[in-house]
Amino acid sequence: MAETGEEKTVSTEASGFSDMSDSEFLDLEDTQELSASPCKPSPSSELPGKDGKVTSLPKWKRGLDVSSPMERFHLKYLYVTDLSTQHWCEQQMVYGKELPGSLAPEEAAVLDTGASIHLARELEVHDLVTIPITSKEDTWAVKFLNMLSMITTLQSGGHVREFPVFGEVEGVLLVGVIDELHYTAKGELELVELKTRRSPVLPLDAQRKKDHFQVSLYKYIFDAMVQGKVTAASLIHHTKLHPEKPLGPSVLKHAQQGGFSVTSLGDLMELVFLSLTLSDLPAIDILKIEYVHQGTATLLGSEIVSFEEKKLRNKVRHYMAYWVGHREPQGVDVEEAWKCRTCSYADICEWRKGIRVHRSMLWPHTKKNE
Ligand code: SF4
Repeated sequence: MAETGEEKTVSTEASGFSDMSDSEFLDLEDTQELSASPCKPSPSSELPGKDGKVTSLPKWKRGLDVSSPMERFHLKYLYVTDLSTQHWCEQQMVYGKELPGSLAPEEAAVLDTGASIHLARELEVHDLVTIPITSKEDTWAVKFLNMLSMITTLQSGGHVREFPVFGEVEGVLLVGVIDELHYTAKGELELVELKTRRSPVLPLDAQRKKDHFQVSLYKYIFDAMVQGKVTAASLIHHTKLHPEKPLGPSVLKHAQQGGFSVTSLGDLMELVFLSLTLSDLPAIDILKIEYVHQGTATLLGSEIVSFEEKKLRNKVRHYMAYWVGHREPQGVDVEEAWKCRTCSYADICEWRKGIRVHRSMLWPHTKKNE
């Protein structure tokens, strides 16, 4: 069912399409303390890189800093996609944080195309309205206004795209964006995650497992939200938002146009948390992933993912142990060493140097009973 006349607001600084791998909704700047200079490498510690160039090793890796990665990277929260990248290779995800900007041009182009397909789908259900923002509180207010509108749409049986989710998991705040939510003919709430593919073929098992993990995490957080397990206090604690701060004039005007009588972020938060718990939205019943070819925008295939909560929680606990500083990052297991072949950090990766790789392991294998 397509909605008409619905609008989604986007802040001028957080369009929701600037992120790396999917439509995670807040820009990176908002996850970090404003004064942060993320893990700037020290010139006195260097590793050989590609083409003989040197790559600096961050200070903390030399044992001079005992703070947790959350502190070192000045992160207030993580994206769901941070954890799904970690699922592929934790060490690779860490290099991505330590050495930002090392994305190859072709990889950036792939992400741009993927974002365009996401945007085209989103425009099918609503228009985008740009709102100038003046603070991080305004940025969150825009998300909350969008959520209020989408909760109403879902309540009336409609479908929504780019639904923000957030919640504390293992002591860390996780945020993300669900691509699409709609009801099936049987009345089940279905999540659809769109994955765009550069090649017109379905992904390997390892990639699919990463995608399964991502959508399972979305369900886990969404269900907690509608079941009243996510609190405003937890959100404020992690994000360091100031709920009493008055909204900026543009956001305020937009809220009033939408019929919301609010003056501060706190007012809006109260409305959102009330709507989430009183709207009788169900937990997500079905997790579906659609793989679409970027070049032709045709559907390559789709699959239904079974939700295994215990397995998911164990994995998240393991990943969070890294973020809160309880363990060092790990690279891929020896049987997945084939992932290193296409890794941008292969030349500097200490983990890779430490594993003995047989030639046959440099190619992916499909396991039958994973
Ligand atoms: S080289 Fe291999 S182990 Fe190292 S970061 Fe890349 S994929 Fe991970």
